[in-house]
Amino acid sequence: MKKTTLIIMAGLLITTSKTIAVTPPVEDFKYSVDKFADIEILHYRVPDFEKLSLKQKEMIYYLTEAALAGRDILFDQNNKYNLTIRKTLEAVYLNYKGDKESAEFAQLTTFMKRVWMGNGIHHHYSEDKFIPDFSAAYFSKTVKSIDPKKLPLGKGETVDQLVAKLTPILFDSSIFPKRTNQAEGVDLILSSANNYYEGVTQAEVEAFYAKMKNPNDNTPISYGLNSKLVKENGVLVEKTYKVGGMYGKTIEQIIVWLEKAASVAENNKQRDVILTLIDFYKTGNLKTYDDYCIKWVKDLDSQIDFVNGFTETYGDPLGMKASWESIVNFKNIEATKRTEIISSNAQWFEDNSPVDKKFKKETVKGVSAKVITVAILAGDCYPATPIGINLPNANWIRRDHGSKSVTIENITEAYDQASLGNGFAEEFMWSDVERKRAKEYASMTNNLHTDLHECLGHGSGKLLPGVDPDALKAYGSTIEEARADLFGLYYMGDPKMLELTLLPSNEAYKAEYYQFIMNGLMTQLTRIQPGKNIEEAHMRNRQLIAGWVYEKGKADKVIEFTKRDGETFIVINDYQKLRRLFGELLAEIQRIRSTGDFEGGKQLVEMYAVKVNQTLHAEVLERYKKLNLAPYRGFVNPVYTLVKNAKGEVTDVTILYTENYVNQHLRYGKDYSFGF
Ligand code: ZN
Repeated sequence: MKKTTLIIMAGLLITTSKTIAVTPPVEDFKYSVDKFADIEILHYRVPDFEKLSLKQKEMIYYLTEAALAGRDILFDQNNKYNLTIRKTLEAVYLNYKGDKESAEFAQLTTFMKRVWMGNGIHHHYSEDKFIPDFSAAYFSKTVKSIDPKKLPLGKGETVDQLVAKLTPILFDSSIFPKRTNQAEGVDLILSSANNYYEGVTQAEVEAFYAKMKNPNDNTPISYGLNSKLVKENGVLVEKTYKVGGMYGKTIEQIIVWLEKAASVAENNKQRDVILTLIDFYKTGNLKTYDDYCIKWVKDLDSQIDFVNGFTETYGDPLGMKASWESIVNFKNIEATKRTEIISSNAQWFEDNSPVDKKFKKETVKGVSAKVITVAILAGDCYPATPIGINLPNANWIRRDHGSKSVTIENITEAYDQASLGNGFAEEFMWSDVERKRAKEYASMTNNLHTDLHECLGHGSGKLLPGVDPDALKAYGSTIEEARADLFGLYYMGDPKMLELTLLPSNEAYKAEYYQFIMNGLMTQLTRIQPGKNIEEAHMRNRQLIAGWVYEKGKADKVIEFTKRDGETFIVINDYQKLRRLFGELLAEIQRIRSTGDFEGGKQLVEMYAVKVNQTLHAEVLERYKKLNLAPYRGFVNPVYTLVKNAKGEVTDVTILYTENYVNQHLRYGKDYSFGF
């Protein structure tokens, strides 16, 4: 998963029988739709939706419904009380009869928006719990003033009990302070606020799964992926997410829509993918899940594609349990030509990387890559979303069957369009040389770096036989992201890029290098609260890389911190040497990953990736504040409507971009909450 980019596509005009459907052109589109706390909410366009066939549009419609149906699962996974809190806030927002113009009501509204953004009471990125600005007394007063029937009361629960239950969770900063704790030296399970485990210690979890794992199994299932581990009567029990199990009612709804999608699938292969997923949802059998992943990774001909399920494990400090997410998308055929060039040269990239030969793959299998247009974001991909995805995650499936890698270009378009002329480059880049390069090449190189990261980086290299894929434990995600980023960075400066026509000049890569280093050493600190360290894996990875190459190139002044009028800037003096340093670090990171060198990984991460230079941080925050920009962005989805004729036949699917952030979440809360 990674960052920002840009491509401009013309709004296309397609005439259907009655209506004229047009994707609004970039210049007429209102990207930014809401702003609160540290968040800006954007709309994204879905270019070429109108070019799809009726059957394809219908399939997308059903898959978007399946995506939205799972929404509550993620709230519950993030914290046991999230759903009750969300529903309580929404009930007050909608039904409170007192003063809705007061400062406190505005604070309650902002808090509710933050809960939507975080899919719970923790910040989506820092994972710290946020505390309301309104008082506990105001919370109590407003909740008690509304009709109890509107509140999410438990069986036999009174309103007073509900308020008493939620008040400490909302207002006491020492309760559930961190959603996923990665900090050294404490029990990572007990100190994490998420809901993947209950009443168990880290040691118990590790012992439980160590007993299940067979080190000689070459094709292991993803242990623990789709379950919660709890202690019942002193015994550890896995509660599986499936029909008839945990989240059963919600999963049934997902299946209803998946079945409809299967009925209009583009081809048999795709239908089989969906039916296998349904089978997995019904049984919770992780072997079936692997079958599904293998079928999914081999479905390359369909234009429509989707992710729907328990997928990424960032939310579990031990990296086993997966959060629920969904996106629905279709291939951007024109832009995909670029990634096809990369994929078809995958073996060349593997063979020529600066990594030790014994850590390389002899044969790189099935690296498939495409550029996609998303139609909906849901679960852990909403409101904040990745701009590139590489799945499946199981190492052996990637080894034996390959992986699918995508770049989400209509999202990067929204980021870039919303950023044009916001003053960021003027404030932080050293000179017009860097700014000019950025203007000319940054969108292109950003896209390309994402492609290389996803199509080649994650798929490159191999583990030595017998190495536990989880050997790096809490450091695994950071090391893995660094590996993928470095693979891309190293090759961006390679003459091969020009030869393959992926870049238009041998200056272009410098735009990405400058931006990456500036971001990793300085500007990403805009996302960190004063006094805090860096926690999130992608951010750690960027500071690790930038900090390491700065340090190692110090004697040669490859990169310098320079002052002008008391402000700090990054200057890069030698781009080719910088490239060689990227190569050296890539070789070391691959060695750590391939050999499962926990101590080596820990040392690199703790030394370069975690700690923040407080003086520089304060300066960056001060300068950033003047720009009045939101450091984080989320999205609202377009609204799809199925159009039917008098006979009940589907005649069209329309798409609207007019729903705002508040209305979307209130509607989702009303229409897509099925209970568990
Ligand atoms: Zn990645």
